[in-house]
Amino acid sequence: KTATGLTTFNPRWIRVNTLKTTMEASLSSSPTFNSFQEVSGMSDMFFSDVVRKYYYPKAELLPSIFAIHPSHDITSSELYKSGKIILQSASSCLPAIMLDPPKGSTVVDGCAAPGNKTTHLAALVGDTGKVFAVERDRRRADILEKMVAKAGAEKIVTILKATDFTTITEGHPAWSASYLLLDPSCSGSGILQRIDWDISKLNLPSSDVASGQPSKSSRKRKREDQSQKASMSTATTEEQEGQQVAEEVQDGDTSKERLQSLSDFQVAIILHAFSFPNARRITYSTCSIHAEENEHVVARVLNSKIAKQRGWGVQSREDNPLSTWHRRGLAKELSDLTVTPEERRRIAEGCVRVNRTDSLGGGFFVVCFIRQANNDSLLD
Ligand code: SAM
Repeated sequence: KTATGLTTFNPRWIRVNTLKTTMEASLSSSPTFNSFQEVSGMSDMFFSDVVRKYYYPKAELLPSIFAIHPSHDITSSELYKSGKIILQSASSCLPAIMLDPPKGSTVVDGCAAPGNKTTHLAALVGDTGKVFAVERDRRRADILEKMVAKAGAEKIVTILKATDFTTITEGHPAWSASYLLLDPSCSGSGILQRIDWDISKLNLPSSDVASGQPSKSSRKRKREDQSQKASMSTATTEEQEGQQVAEEVQDGDTSKERLQSLSDFQVAIILHAFSFPNARRITYSTCSIHAEENEHVVARVLNSKIAKQRGWGVQSREDNPLSTWHRRGLAKELSDLTVTPEERRRIAEGCVRVNRTDSLGGGFFVVCFIRQANNDSLLD
């Protein structure tokens, strides 16, 4: 249990940047990870007496992504410095995986900075694809530019600095995109706070039971805790920079009024995306755990005239790459949706939720909108 009462494992998730290397090369031939051992469960990594070099892949859900204990400092490694690996929470990797843009396709990242999802998209579409990364805030767009360069994605990504996504209309080169990823500003209520990362509370109390090892003296344990905490604080420099930038937008205000105004803004972003003439799939995501910004937004956009005119619906669970994830949308929060109860359940099943205690790096919501087949004739 952490100080905030969350019973959870908070590993450090790492995305391998497949524009520069592979999962196998990062793990087996790099001095950083070649001594790490694969474990089949997160608990194996946390319930050991001392922090060992373990890694945990969740390959069926998260390709090219793995987790390590948060006390390992890898920011000084060549892999990290050269942009071959990227520190990105697993939950933040879900939208690009769910959007699943084919190699060579054109994608718009409508709310892009600091750029974790932009570079993930670039890795998926590859050298023959194109990503338009739209960012309204100039300062955040500068960080986006640095991240794209570090990931080696400059040739794939076109950054539209200080550009409002809703101003992209006919005649703009991004207007022809087939896939859109929308990750607009939200309350950030799913973000794990630094206090949730107090690892001294995580792996030690149950470890003696799990490993069958004799207890350590409390002095020795305290020394280990302190050194783990010290390495935690250096390991997260860049994440903290990203988080700091994020916090300026995601200020933690979850009052009714604030959630309503965020929801109005999120709906406007999605409705604009629905008007892209060639769009086939659109993901919408938040790092919020509030239904007002999640299922309620889905209900509002599906009730819209443009959704009905252009045939936008929610991709069924069985068709999406995250079908094996157990936690889905909340059907009861879709009560404003004017559909049959059965259709409401299908739509809820199509949505993915991540709780803060799911060990994917924070609470999250993602859904994929698709244009229904009988409206394909509308596609230009
Ligand atoms: N997808 C990003 C990532 O994974 O690194 C995080 C995006 S953050 C939650 C939302 C971003 O959207 C902020 O940088 C904000 O400045 C930007 N934004 C908000 N409204 C926008 C708009 N109308 N057009 C373009 N960008 C916008």
